[in-house]
Amino acid sequence: NSHHTYDYIIVGGGTSGLVVANRLSEQKNTTVLVIEAGGSVYNNPNVTDTLGYGKAFDTDIDWAYKTTDQEYAGGISQTVRAGKALGGTSTINGMVYLRAQAAQINAWETVGNKGWNWKNMLPYFKKSEQLQDPVHYPFLDGSGVAFDPAYHGFTGPLKVGWSSTQLNDGLAQKMNATYQNLKVPVQYNPDPNGGDMIGYSLYPMTVDSELNIREDAARAYYYPYSNRTNLHVWLHTNANKITWKDSHDITASGVEVTLSNSTTTVVTATREVILAAGALKSPVLLELSGIGNPDILSKYGITTKVNLPTVGENLQDQMNNGLQFDSKTSYSNKSADYVSYPSAAQLFPNSTAVGAELLRKLPAYAAQVASANGNITKTRDLYHFFKIQWDLIFKYGIPVVEILLEPSGAMYDTEYWGSVPFSRGSVHLSSAHPTAAAIIDPKYFMLDFDLHAQVQAAKFIREVFKTEPFADMAGAETSPGLLTVAAGADDNDWADFIKSNFRSNFHPISTAAMMPKEIGGVVDPSLKVYGTSNVRVVDASVLPFQVCGHLQSTIYAVAERAADIIKGRL
Ligand code: FAD
Repeated sequence: NSHHTYDYIIVGGGTSGLVVANRLSEQKNTTVLVIEAGGSVYNNPNVTDTLGYGKAFDTDIDWAYKTTDQEYAGGISQTVRAGKALGGTSTINGMVYLRAQAAQINAWETVGNKGWNWKNMLPYFKKSEQLQDPVHYPFLDGSGVAFDPAYHGFTGPLKVGWSSTQLNDGLAQKMNATYQNLKVPVQYNPDPNGGDMIGYSLYPMTVDSELNIREDAARAYYYPYSNRTNLHVWLHTNANKITWKDSHDITASGVEVTLSNSTTTVVTATREVILAAGALKSPVLLELSGIGNPDILSKYGITTKVNLPTVGENLQDQMNNGLQFDSKTSYSNKSADYVSYPSAAQLFPNSTAVGAELLRKLPAYAAQVASANGNITKTRDLYHFFKIQWDLIFKYGIPVVEILLEPSGAMYDTEYWGSVPFSRGSVHLSSAHPTAAAIIDPKYFMLDFDLHAQVQAAKFIREVFKTEPFADMAGAETSPGLLTVAAGADDNDWADFIKSNFRSNFHPISTAAMMPKEIGGVVDPSLKVYGTSNVRVVDASVLPFQVCGHLQSTIYAVAERAADIIKGRL
């Protein structure tokens, strides 16, 4: 079957992969193949239903990756969900459209990626976006939703906005009043997507406001363009590994795939192979192709093509917990999420002392992470990353936690997480077999600041529920409840509840980090894998640092920029 030849092969038809496929196939003389392990979910109600979050979990469109038993978090394995479908994880995610704090994107440049800063990324956020102005949707009257046109795109492929189930009964305004009544108020921020996230906000989602269905990467970037004759998509096809040219430099010749009928074949790429299989798959594909740590590869009989030991390292995720309260109002078939993003100064009563103590601990943190992976990532480099992260929190004032409040039936549900945990783990292959489960070890709660931030977020939520006018609308705390975690509990008292009830926040990143090679990077600022002439990674794997928003908006923007780089425009 060697007659299958394309200019570009994109591995993974997910959030990032379909952006790049769309943009490259705008060039009529360029042929593009997308290889996707899942199928079409265009008519899958578990995907399209805007109130259906979670319905797709543990179905055949959820990879449901398992972590190793988590040493610092109760010794149990966690499930990290990811979409297995055309559209990838954008077909099962929570549809939240929240970007990042400008200083965080600027930190990508600080760490050595020239040109990757907020100013240069904003046009790509806008390019991908088609904001649906709430003024055209009367059902949003009174809902409190808002946006600043300076920060949004209106003609991009990705529909962003609010659905017809958005609550408009005045709760948003009461939430705001509550935040203003806190001892340390959290100010109202009409638009958290302009690079400053601090405050209390209503945020938009990836929905089609007209049709009231989920907007995913396939609906935005593929289906309207599926008649392009130079753009092919192979569904139910597993990419096994990159194949290499017999040449002096390390040049990909194509991709070995297993088709839906179980036959294995090689597709030829005349220009590039572009990995977009997600942060828990792209590094494993690199390893299966001989790019990684020779000590790991040799264990499975894989010959090293490029000695790049940090492939799969630097894995960063967040930890998600919740508190639940009774509600005196019943909310059914309605949706609303209110977010608050306090800074360290707003969250910690003694922020300066907390910052000083953390700063003293950073060298030990760096040494601990390095030693956990056999010094594959270096203490010196990790200290440098941690100091950048410390500066973001304590100098630039990025949000230190995220708090979501969701009215749901007869209760108020909350979710919270430290936005930038310091703990770092890894993902590596466990076998030379291309579909074997990988060894995923995020090392949740390895470093104590991560627990401290998580505890402080829980305490903050308790304060919100004690503050008027909201206090009067909510009933008792049902989870964990004061019998399980007493009022005034300290970190130790909270630890048990938090560690036995958390889940992955499903935001794994950085496993093929964009950074200089000398400090452990896997891809350069053009997203090319070090040591290769024509292999790139364009998905969540390349983000060097966690972002305070949710990942998809940033991944769409990164992929838009990647496409311009590949086209030679940057
Ligand atoms: P993906 O979109 O996962 O794409 C990878 C694709 O590669 C998939 O289609 C996969 O099937 C395919 N693939 C993998 N391996 C192979 C192979 N060997 N061969 C062929 N194909 C392969 N972010 C937000 O911004 N807002 C949210 O509300 C939000 N909620 C979330 C809720 C959940 C449950 C989850 C899991 C994530 C959520 N996220 C959210 C995160 C966000 O959706 C993801 O970070 C993002 O979609 C990842 O994009 P990606 O391009 O890196 O990977």
